[in-house]
Amino acid sequence: MAQDTLQALKDRLAEIDNLRRVAAVLEWDQSTYMPAGGAAQRGAQLAAVIGAAHRLFVDEETKRLLDAAVDTATEIDAALVRVARRDYEKETRLPASFIAEEALAFARGYETWVAARANDDFAAFAPALEANVALARRRADYLGYESDPYDALLDLYDQGMTTARLDVIFSELRDGMKPLIKAIAAGADAIDASVLHRSYDESTQLDLSKKMARSLGYDFNRGRLDLTIHPFETSFGVDDVRITTRVSSDFLQMALMGTIHETGHALYEQNIDPEFAGSPLAFGASYGLHESQSRLWENVVGRSKGFWTWADPLVRAAFPEQLADVSPEVLYRAFNKVAPSLIRVEADEATYNLHIMLRYELERDLLNGRLAVRDLPGVWKAKMQESLGVTPPTDAEGVLQDVHWAAGMFGSFPSYTLGNVLSVQLYDAALRAHPDLPREFERGKFSTLLDWLRANVYRYGHMYEPDDLVTKATGHPIETSPYLRYLQTKFGALYGLDTTAS
Ligand code: ZN
Repeated sequence: MAQDTLQALKDRLAEIDNLRRVAAVLEWDQSTYMPAGGAAQRGAQLAAVIGAAHRLFVDEETKRLLDAAVDTATEIDAALVRVARRDYEKETRLPASFIAEEALAFARGYETWVAARANDDFAAFAPALEANVALARRRADYLGYESDPYDALLDLYDQGMTTARLDVIFSELRDGMKPLIKAIAAGADAIDASVLHRSYDESTQLDLSKKMARSLGYDFNRGRLDLTIHPFETSFGVDDVRITTRVSSDFLQMALMGTIHETGHALYEQNIDPEFAGSPLAFGASYGLHESQSRLWENVVGRSKGFWTWADPLVRAAFPEQLADVSPEVLYRAFNKVAPSLIRVEADEATYNLHIMLRYELERDLLNGRLAVRDLPGVWKAKMQESLGVTPPTDAEGVLQDVHWAAGMFGSFPSYTLGNVLSVQLYDAALRAHPDLPREFERGKFSTLLDWLRANVYRYGHMYEPDDLVTKATGHPIETSPYLRYLQTKFGALYGLDTTAS
């Protein structure tokens, strides 16, 4: 009897999952091949599919099945019911009228933001942003929190993370990174990255990107790479995980590193236990953990000395003329140049987290009413100067640069930094188990690392809470010391710094 109930619950969740994956296919098409004229129809189609999934999920029958599925025989079934129940509670706390109100406001917010950014006109965006802040506040109130409304939003992306924990993580990072970034800035000329800005044929870059993705372990029989404006990874299920990239003929880094980043996300999705298919367990454990995998493959592997020992001849064979006067050492160093920049998505490994901390502080203050939207541009500029030593000349290159607030994604920025921190913590654990990894990379062998990540992280999907999964894999919940040590060692060597004192 109980088994029948559990099966009925699984069938229902699988149907909901199918509808959501259909929406993902439509969204992927919208961002890759759909002609511009299809936008309005596609919006209606997406709303229909997502609405159907939502109605099925919040239906009384789902609750009845969840309540009845109490004695689950296996750990996997118990996890499935736990995750489904939490999703159900989150989704039913938000009234349907509120969801509709949000959807309208975010669509309007996005439209207004695109125009405001193009015209460098923050005032034109301010009313939409004020509306989105008010909605985020109401969303937090509906979801519930103990002390800080931001906690309710944070929990949507990284369960178990709180502002209290984040404040500790961020202050450790700030203290650890400040002297390093200062020392690098003093010797900024040590790396010349101009080689990346020569002329590189775009289709050759795409071929190289595919070769790298395949070598890292991305399975093209269960995925494909296409072009888009804002690259992303999306999963239609473990057997069809798509990645996208963009190419610039005068910036070699964009396609190669962007593709490896999305490959990291895809390796996670392609290696989830196939048994989880159609269930709420067939996802990554959290946004932070998902980002840890894009960062691990992009930065810890893709910007490492070992990787470039292998990749240099490949890139050189593809672009013999452009690289004729450039040594492998110069090319490797170019991919690792550190320079404080205005734009988050162009930031290097060392300064990236400063961009996130700034956004975290601002959006938390907005939410708590400590900061008014009209004061945002000025505060943004002052904080950029204070933390990165650069002041954006325009709002388009400052407060208007990211889509997140226009699309109502308050609380999601910290995932990027959690990802950076976890990328090294997980890699270090793999390295303890397999000390020869860097030598394997030199030979183009990445399967030992992939196997370790599959066995310790990927296969579990959403089965464990983020903290439990990280502790299981590394022996500790999230900690900043491996990441800070990594930055100091790597950039200390690249910039010839004496980092023994810190
Ligand atoms: Zn990512």
